Amino acid sequence: MTSSARPRRNRRLAEFGTTIFAEMSALAERTGAINLGQGFPDTDGPETVREAAVRALRDGRGNQYPPGLGVPELRTAIAAHQQRWYALSLDPDREVLVTAGATEALAASLLGLLEPGDEVIALEPYYDSYAACIAMAGGRRVPVTLRPNGGSFRLDLDELQTAVTNRTRLLLVNTPHNPTGTVLTREELKAIAELAVARDLLVVTDEVYEHLVFDGAEHVPLAAFPGMRERTVTIGSAAKTFSFTGWKVGWATATPELIDAVRSAKQFLTFVCSGPFQYAVAEALALPDSYFADFRADMSAKRDVLTTGLRRAGFQVFDPAGTYFVTTDIRPLGEVDGTAFCRSLPERSGVVAIPNAVFYDQPKAGEPFVRFAFCKRKDVLDEAVARLQRLTR
Ligand SMILES: *Cc1c(COP(=O)(O)O)cnc(C)c1O
Repeated sequence: MTSSARPRRNRRLAEFGTTIFAEMSALAERTGAINLGQGFPDTDGPETVREAAVRALRDGRGNQYPPGLGVPELRTAIAAHQQRWYALSLDPDREVLVTAGATEALAASLLGLLEPGDEVIALEPYYDSYAACIAMAGGRRVPVTLRPNGGSFRLDLDELQTAVTNRTRLLLVNTPHNPTGTVLTREELKAIAELAVARDLLVVTDEVYEHLVFDGAEHVPLAAFPGMRERTVTIGSAAKTFSFTGWKVGWATATPELIDAVRSAKQFLTFVCSGPFQYAVAEALALPDSYFADFRADMSAKRDVLTTGLRRAGFQVFDPAGTYFVTTDIRPLGEVDGTAFCRSLPERSGVVAIPNAVFYDQPKAGEPFVRFAFCKRKDVLDEAVARLQRLTR
């Protein structure tokens, strides 16, 4: 260890220590607990897609730097996907950018679009990279908090409206929403779109769970609303839709002008990535409707196993309409502090979860909430649920 009067980490990142996921995964490892903390599936995606990646590697496609925008096959497939599911027309040569996962698309969008001091409104609780990327871009984040309302977390549209100032540059939206499982309704999205148009705001929308919506809930991309096409960067990823989180293939779609801005930052982050996997994801995006329907039905059944078990164990459960995650309230268990609860949970009942407080700027607002992931095998969920029943005994 060396010590120095001058901190090694710069001021922009000083508040961001190691993520909670590292701490909780280490705890899972040490205690042998079932890890429902981090959101990655414990089964890989379709065999045909894996084989497509192997074929690309063997055939020497993508083993050297692919084109800066992404391979044409994938850009064409992404444009076709947006047309097929949302009737959005995109020019694959100018309006699609392949990135190192949605994570890089988010970072490059914020770095490429923000001026220092610009305010960014984001829906709190937020995905953990948002706050750090806004900070790296020199922006100021302004949270608008989703609050429990009739069994799910909802956006207060008046609060959103009030949060917009003359310094607001960008709205950062995530639907389906991690960690709450909220899927913004068509009416809510319409109101967000009208606000963005009225105040001339840019919108970056993280839609990585677009295919994971349950119980007839519908995912509508913000870019589909009037006046939004020219001000919206839409972000997607193969990670969650095809259960290949390690491949890091994501994308941004937007007008040529916005894509140029995002690309100007992206080219100096990774330049390019995931060559052979890009060809495989192009094939995945063209899978028949049945793949997407089966995937959704499977994940929805897993959700039911976990939510039923959590209720039985005494949690208040906010039934997620989308994503990999369920948020719970631990107060019915006589607990108040989610962080302390999650630190003790592996010892108490052999399960790891994440305290939602880490996703808030105002941790108090998230204190009693705890997130569990259900993107795991059914036998793993059954065992986790059985272990959680110990809490009430
Ligand atoms: C998983 C996740 C991402 C990151 O996606 P990658 O493609 O793996 O980088 C981005 N946003 C949300 C909300 C996520 O849950």
